[in-house]
Amino acid sequence: MPEAAALTLVPTPIGNLEDITLRAIRVLREADLVLCEDTRTSGRLLQHLELKKPLQAYHLHNEHQVVPRLLERLAKGERMALVSDAGTPGISDPGFLLVRECLARGLAVECLPGPTALIPALLKSGFGAERFAFEGFLPVKKGRQTRLQELARETRTLIFYESPHRIVKTLTQLAEVFGPERPASVSRELTKLFEETLTASLGELATTLAARSAIKGEIVLVVEGAKQEKGERSKYNFRDDEASDDGDADDDPAA
Ligand code: SAM
Repeated sequence: MPEAAALTLVPTPIGNLEDITLRAIRVLREADLVLCEDTRTSGRLLQHLELKKPLQAYHLHNEHQVVPRLLERLAKGERMALVSDAGTPGISDPGFLLVRECLARGLAVECLPGPTALIPALLKSGFGAERFAFEGFLPVKKGRQTRLQELARETRTLIFYESPHRIVKTLTQLAEVFGPERPASVSRELTKLFEETLTASLGELATTLAARSAIKGEIVLVVEGAKQEKGERSKYNFRDDEASDDGDADDDPAA
């Protein structure tokens, strides 16, 4: 087994506690320090796993302050695990800054594979998964319309994270910019008791969800990519690429 990295990113469940991996539990057990967004949330997870570990807050509001001291400790040989409240750290969650600074100093960084909300939502949508673009959260105000316009002709499947109180507004705006007929899928409360996935057009989804008295829980929105313009060669879709094989040896993965 390779020597433990200085910093290991440890994905944690997005709902169902059974989704923690055996390796994640071992890395947490062996860490000198667990960095987490919220010490209460991660404290409960460690308690569930029957692990007692020192915890330190590492979140968007303190990361610039704490990174220098963490780097000193990592350089002296401490082993740290970074978790977020749920899912994979660094995916719409803190992590990027510490990873970048560790790598810049030659400190080994490991990331375990594990739970993240975007992948089950993508696969449950039934839309093409050979190529996709993860957009995270759309800008709330500044730059929102520009981003929507930029994405309107994107042919890859698009994945967005969204909050329950903004989902109807987002679906409505997407319907305006992408067209109301564009197929989309809303996955709510993935891996949890009241998990549901609705797949319909953007316009229908906006109407269906607007009619609900309350929308609760966490949401991933998946939107099918734009259709190719006639005569346009696909940059992304594997099947289209096969169909329009131009005999170029560069296209052959075995060549
Ligand atoms: N790091 C996380 C990951 O790997 O997926 C994402 C953290 S981000 C702050 C939180 C967002 O992820 C939520 O607003 C929602 O869009 C999505 N999310 C997280 N858990 C989810 C779940 N169980 N069902 C649906 N969406 C979820």
